[in-house]
Amino acid sequence: MGQAVRIPEPVRAVLARLEEAGYEAWCVGGAARDALLGREASDWDVATGARPEAVMELFGPDALPTGLQHGTVTVRTAGTGVEVTTFRRDGDYLDNRHPDHVEFTGSLREDLSRRDFTVNAIAMNLRGELADPFGGRADLAAGILRAVGRPEDRFREDGLRIMRGLRFASRLGFAIEPETDGALRRCAPLLERIAPERLREETTGLLCGRYAERILLEYPEVLGVFLPEILPCVGFQQRNKHHCFDVWAHTARSVGEVKPLPVLRWTMLLHDLGKPDCFTLGDNGQGHFYGHWRVSVEKGAAILDRLRFDNRSKKTILTLVDRHDTELPLEEKTVRRRLRQLGEETLRLLLEVKRADNLAQAPAYRDRQRIISQWEDLLNLVLAEESCFSLRQLAVKGGDLTALGISGPRVGEALEALLDQVVDGDLPNDRGMLLEYAREVLL
Ligand code: ATP
Ligand code: MG
Repeated sequence: MGQAVRIPEPVRAVLARLEEAGYEAWCVGGAARDALLGREASDWDVATGARPEAVMELFGPDALPTGLQHGTVTVRTAGTGVEVTTFRRDGDYLDNRHPDHVEFTGSLREDLSRRDFTVNAIAMNLRGELADPFGGRADLAAGILRAVGRPEDRFREDGLRIMRGLRFASRLGFAIEPETDGALRRCAPLLERIAPERLREETTGLLCGRYAERILLEYPEVLGVFLPEILPCVGFQQRNKHHCFDVWAHTARSVGEVKPLPVLRWTMLLHDLGKPDCFTLGDNGQGHFYGHWRVSVEKGAAILDRLRFDNRSKKTILTLVDRHDTELPLEEKTVRRRLRQLGEETLRLLLEVKRADNLAQAPAYRDRQRIISQWEDLLNLVLAEESCFSLRQLAVKGGDLTALGISGPRVGEALEALLDQVVDGDLPNDRGMLLEYAREVLL
């Protein structure tokens, strides 16, 4: 921090234009925060004293009224859009989520005071001057996430701030200031009233943060308000030599170990939810969880449905949860079978899941990492060989079988049967030999 912060040229142009017209204009929110941290900001928001009508008029055809009722105008410049929002003061929050109305104000300070955390309530102008009435910069420097104003009031106004807080802590690695932390925990039941789509987005952001493991370990009761399935995992001892953590600690660690793709992070969160229900103790005193992935799939499906996941993500995540514990024998036949069942993309994701799962187990069993890498090498080899593992690649097509006199649904079945032979290595992917087999065996 301290060095000059670079504001992108299109944003500078918008700020300059507003100032020239006699209005205050500031960069606010995540952009100011991330810029001061030396991070790439995702989107630049501008706050101004100008009323929305004035902004519309000033920018003419480049101004789009994208959220006039909240005072937001999107200004198109140099190929991007900059959101320009009039300084606001929020009305009362009657539903623990939205102000019943917003009022425009000429006061930057008032606009900053409605923002959630001090590090999000810093404004920066064209000349790099800061307006920081709540000590956001000191908190940025110290790595502290602190609510603006009285924490409990702020979370009661808008329960989503609870999850925003955990997301920022997970992404930035900040400590949540004790009073903010206490209020966040006390107000957690309010999350029951937040729209599932918003919970999904904030949880995904949390899971993909660099410090997700820490947040999962520290706040299971908060997340448990809308993900009650995780609660039985907390402190559940596995009593198995492969595991040195309880189910929740293992889960949290595995989330932190996997690449920060939403699908992979959600898979790790869900992969062992079935364990508490499936626990048995063997004669040798070792704990087992036979078939736990099936229960994890059930519970995971319920969660993904509740949070309105799209079908594609849901399918991938549940496939990965279902398969996370399957063996990977080091043979080409198995590679082709897995390719056939899952496709390359999902199969590669599965290898990442297995890596992360293993990294979150007892250190004595890390040799699995090598086995997974060998399996990956074999996968690359099979793909480079252009082996056949799908109907698209099969040397025989439906028309060939119809010509032999096979018809109706029998065609599809016969093609699958031929593919079985090829994938298992019992027949080469050779048109002549496949047709001969079809004539002799399938007809
Ligand atoms: P990101 O980098 O994820 O976009 P952000 O801080 O920019 O983080 P946004 O959702 O883009 O988050 O919101 C922009 C700014 O608006 C925030 O920095 C904060 O000042 C304010 N803000 C957004 N949502 C809320 C909220 N629910 N309560 C209070 N202030 C909010
Ligand atoms: Mg933002």
